Amino acid sequence: MSLSQGRDLFMTPGPSVIPDRVLNAMHRAAPNIYEGDLIETTDRILENLRKVAGTKGDPTIYISNGHGVWEAALHNVLQAGDKVLCLATGIFGNGWANVATTMGIEVELVDFGTSCSFDATKVADTLRADTGEIKAVLATHTDTSSSITNDIAALREAIDDTGHHALLMVDCIASLACEPFEMDAWGVDVMVAGCQKGIMVPPGVAFTFHNAKAEQVSENTKKTSPYWDWGPRTNPERFYMRFNGTPPTHHLFGLDEALTMLVDEEGLENVWARHTKQAQAVWAAVDKWAEAGAIRCNVSNIADRSSAVTTVVSDTVDLTPLHRWCQDTAGLVLGVGIGFGDYEPHQIFRIGHMGHMNPVMLLGAFSTIEAGLSALQIPHGGGAIAAAGRVLSS
Ligand SMILES: *Cc1c(COP(=O)(O)O)cnc(C)c1O
Repeated sequence: MSLSQGRDLFMTPGPSVIPDRVLNAMHRAAPNIYEGDLIETTDRILENLRKVAGTKGDPTIYISNGHGVWEAALHNVLQAGDKVLCLATGIFGNGWANVATTMGIEVELVDFGTSCSFDATKVADTLRADTGEIKAVLATHTDTSSSITNDIAALREAIDDTGHHALLMVDCIASLACEPFEMDAWGVDVMVAGCQKGIMVPPGVAFTFHNAKAEQVSENTKKTSPYWDWGPRTNPERFYMRFNGTPPTHHLFGLDEALTMLVDEEGLENVWARHTKQAQAVWAAVDKWAEAGAIRCNVSNIADRSSAVTTVVSDTVDLTPLHRWCQDTAGLVLGVGIGFGDYEPHQIFRIGHMGHMNPVMLLGAFSTIEAGLSALQIPHGGGAIAAAGRVLSS
């Protein structure tokens, strides 16, 4: 018998919990797509997207998921035969590299493993050894598989120190509107993000952002896909050109509401501070459980940990029964393990703490996980909930 008849809690790192306000904003009749409100709504969205990304550059909205904008970003500034340096700290870094390879782009992959962030010195050494072939550096801000967050400002500094001209392209799909990100201040040339993680909207639209330097490169790049070309989308002669066809009308209404909540109401600084605090509560709980030696945070160095997602690993225990217990008995869906390094998927669970999340949801999740650990006799230290509570009230 399942006891779970209320609202299930999804602690997956995307899609994240959708606020009722966002759902309600989408629940309306089809709008006029030729003139009026929708055009103003879109302009307001673009302005708020600039704020979320910390840029005066151009955002482009695609009907797509994150995988699509990986391709969109590459397509606009690179061609088959060009070379990129791709930095990986988890499977998403490798994923972007694979897309580039399939597009005929030559990829030099530097894999930093799955337990700590980039080593900027190593990146600088690679760029110094380059004879001008590398056109772009591809980096992941937060890798959602390992839950490592990389210091993008430090990466930019390391690139600048070498005097290398490469574009810096960053995947912020997991981190945008969760963790501080300042595209212009940090010198990021191209950034990609999706709507279904920190932005709290059902999956379906995704974004590229680019600055003037990337635009210049783009103008000298031969485009082979009209769909991904950001040119007409950022300078549309007619409204439909923004989306290369029919606009994603109801996603735009949801997105407008979500950005109003994040930018105009809560404020980005508060959004970031909330995520930091909630992440610290997660780590406090997991670190207590870890005292018994069966499970622990994948990332040990606090500075390398994401405040959007936490990957928990076990060297000794199969965690599949815990996933099942949480889901079937209690209605808590944890993020599945994406295998990496020495870890198989069944040795991993992930806690998504991104987006529309509050302490009662977090504490409910911790208590459920702890009850599951107890029920399944998986060794775990005590005091996790109290430790999380202390963090939340500090
Ligand atoms: C989720 C995610 C992706 C992939 O996005 P999809 O919408 O699933 O295609 C890529 N990179 C990172 C860092 C992600 O978290």
